[in-house]
Amino acid sequence: MSVARESLVVMKFGGTSLEDAKAMERTAAIVASRRKKGLDAAVVVSAMAKVTDQLLAAAAAAGRGDKAGALALSSRLRHRHIDTATDLLTGEHAAGLHPAVHAEFDALDDLLRGIAAVGELTARTNDLVVSFGERLSSRMVAAAFAQRGLEGAHVDARSCIVTDANYGKAAPLEPAIEAKLREIVLPLIEAKKTAVMGGFIGATTEGITTTLGRGGSDYTAALVGGGLHAGAIEIWTDVNGIMTTDPRICPDALRVKTISFEEAAELAYFGAKVLHPATILPAVQKNIPVWVLNSRNAENEGTQITAVAPRCKSPFKSIAAKKKLTIIDIVASRMLMSHGYMKAVFDVFDKYKCVIDMVSTSEVSISLSVDSNQRLPEICEDLSKIADVKMEGNKALICMVGEDIRGHNGIAGQVFSAISHVNVRMISQGASEINMSFMIEEEDVEEAVRSLHKHFFADPDEAIFDVEARVQVESKA
Ligand code: ASP
Ligand code: MG
Repeated sequence: MSVARESLVVMKFGGTSLEDAKAMERTAAIVASRRKKGLDAAVVVSAMAKVTDQLLAAAAAAGRGDKAGALALSSRLRHRHIDTATDLLTGEHAAGLHPAVHAEFDALDDLLRGIAAVGELTARTNDLVVSFGERLSSRMVAAAFAQRGLEGAHVDARSCIVTDANYGKAAPLEPAIEAKLREIVLPLIEAKKTAVMGGFIGATTEGITTTLGRGGSDYTAALVGGGLHAGAIEIWTDVNGIMTTDPRICPDALRVKTISFEEAAELAYFGAKVLHPATILPAVQKNIPVWVLNSRNAENEGTQITAVAPRCKSPFKSIAAKKKLTIIDIVASRMLMSHGYMKAVFDVFDKYKCVIDMVSTSEVSISLSVDSNQRLPEICEDLSKIADVKMEGNKALICMVGEDIRGHNGIAGQVFSAISHVNVRMISQGASEINMSFMIEEEDVEEAVRSLHKHFFADPDEAIFDVEARVQVESKA
């Protein structure tokens, strides 16, 4: 087993931290602050903001045979990257980067022409097209670091992130990755360089380009941090970490200083879009602390995600709300919950690839909540062949998460008396035992979240929550 490299921090910057030259400037300053502390840094970058979506659109256009449309999108991207490179670099660094950016775009254009000529876009080719976003951003950031005395060294992620051939959502092969990182990235770190590689992309053992799935750069950061046994992983985004609730609903929301991996995972599912925790699992399993930080507010301490939750006075860490849901009530009229009934019901949802959020059952009825979508009338029509069906839209789900609800008695009583004026439709305390969820009317969400927040976060545990955040809000008001 390798030893931990405490002095190594793996820093991942998302698209908004790289949206233009100014943002890249801030990113360089953040990396410089870590180097100044005597830390070694390996940097993983996303594509510049929105580039992945635009590359996917270009690939789709080419796949439809729309060569002109595809090339127009690519041309716009070329200008954006060249303009950013011009703002970011001077002298030899600019002279070195410009031809490299043009060469990448020439290759992309050839590829798009080829796809348009065939008129067919395979998953494998789609991955190749979309890989240009991270290939370009990582080159640019490496050059920007080189010019700013950070010893930037570009690494093509495809030489290290070895995956299977499941295009669009390839699975990393961790032992192979660890070996490649040791061979390619470690010597750079030991030479005091800042290795910069694109997130999200990888390659099969045969060298065919793959991607890890949307938002996959966090995953890359965890693989690099895990593979090199880094001391910490920092995920730089544009929010101050994970909050006790949505600050747009509740200005009193506090930053959560420390949260467990399981808690963060529950919250991500219910709409807290900070990061998808499954992607940081390789790091958490190796006990490497992961921080979520704000590149627009680098002084802020962010949120630390750890394997084990620290004990906390308050039973909950955070309250999430998800709107635009529909409840479907299914009353067994004909088959009366006979054998195979549940399967018949779920098969209908399966047929329409409709994801179910919550389920509750009684002797004769099943209530389900689903995202409101256009297929619901068809789903209900199919269901009505086996049951009486009622559908009610404009519902919302409130999800309260905290590992400490396990040990507390009477939590449900407290929750529902805090919102006794709100009509609660469905209740579930998940098998994970760390979340309590219930459905209410969409129009009651703001009021319910504020009441719950007031009840459970009135006297916050200062070890876990950033009380200063509240003081700042109050003095601004
Ligand atoms: N650029 C990729 C995406 O937008 C990966 C990432 O940003 O994490 O999905
Ligand atoms: Mg992104």
